[in-house]
Amino acid sequence: MQHIMELPQIVIIGEGSFNKNSISHILKFKNKGLIITGPHVLKIYNREIDSSLSEFSYDTFIVNEPTYNEAERVLADIGSSNYLFVIGIGGGKTLDIAKYVGFKLNMPVLSVPTNASNDGIASPFSSLRGGKYPYSLKVKPPLGVIADISIIMKAPKGQINSGLGDLIGKITSVRDWYLGWKKNGEYYGEYASKLALESARHALASAEGIGNLQLDSVKNLLEALISAGVAGGIAGSSRPLSGSEHLITHALDVLAPGLGMHGEKVGINTVFTSYLYKLNWNKIKLSLSKAGLPVSYKELGINRNTIVKAIIMAPTLRPERYTILHQMQLSESKINEILDYLEI
Ligand SMILES: [Zn+2]
Repeated sequence: MQHIMELPQIVIIGEGSFNKNSISHILKFKNKGLIITGPHVLKIYNREIDSSLSEFSYDTFIVNEPTYNEAERVLADIGSSNYLFVIGIGGGKTLDIAKYVGFKLNMPVLSVPTNASNDGIASPFSSLRGGKYPYSLKVKPPLGVIADISIIMKAPKGQINSGLGDLIGKITSVRDWYLGWKKNGEYYGEYASKLALESARHALASAEGIGNLQLDSVKNLLEALISAGVAGGIAGSSRPLSGSEHLITHALDVLAPGLGMHGEKVGINTVFTSYLYKLNWNKIKLSLSKAGLPVSYKELGINRNTIVKAIIMAPTLRPERYTILHQMQLSESKINEILDYLEI
């Protein structure tokens, strides 16, 4: 059996790193590119985009929502035009569309995150709403990543610290992956698993600094998000990045769309799933609070009935992806009992 690892080739992190030289370092051809970005980001960074890409020829496509239909609309608008590369500039969802479009058209993608809200920056996955499945699709990793700290530091706090919530999820996702290997003989890669977990630990050590938006801590968070994405590339699946805590997140996306950011939901769900694994859930809750992240569903506007339904629905979304939720088959009363105990 062969195993394929696909990884980004060049990652450039630093203050002011979104510039002409960095882009030329990654992209060897200047004609002709496709920029995918959001209206808000374009408005704020119009000047930076113009000057960084002054030597390149490109068209700009604005995406308004992170949906499968929006990605397909971009593909339809492109039609038979010949582009050689895609640059995604924006938050996780814009990057998801850029990776999807690049994958469909077999073009290299340059990922330029403008926030640190999730681990999609360097990963080979694209998570789009409204598609056939409520979870991420396997695409290709970006050819290159330019993470400009000075741009990311300008993002709203919720779009920075929620990246830590997404990383905290790795504490249970790697255990779910191990369980899938033990139970169903799935491929399991110990190195990828350790790398994903180490990414979470690396960022967790800076939880307080992330909460206070300290430069060094945000840099640690970014490195951790990128290395988690690389762990997904080494694994060849989202297994090390997404387990029971993400299944509950996907169920909440279906049952309570628009409430809470991805990483915020993953963080609280991990308090629940880490309890199921008999881990130190209290420490996880404390780290969330140090980082200024919500520690209860109520803070996200999610009521008890909805979260109970989501936890029951979660394992049904991916029956083939065995997790602690598939193993335990929790009843409604047991879920309520645990939620009361954890005070989440
Ligand atoms: Zn995630």
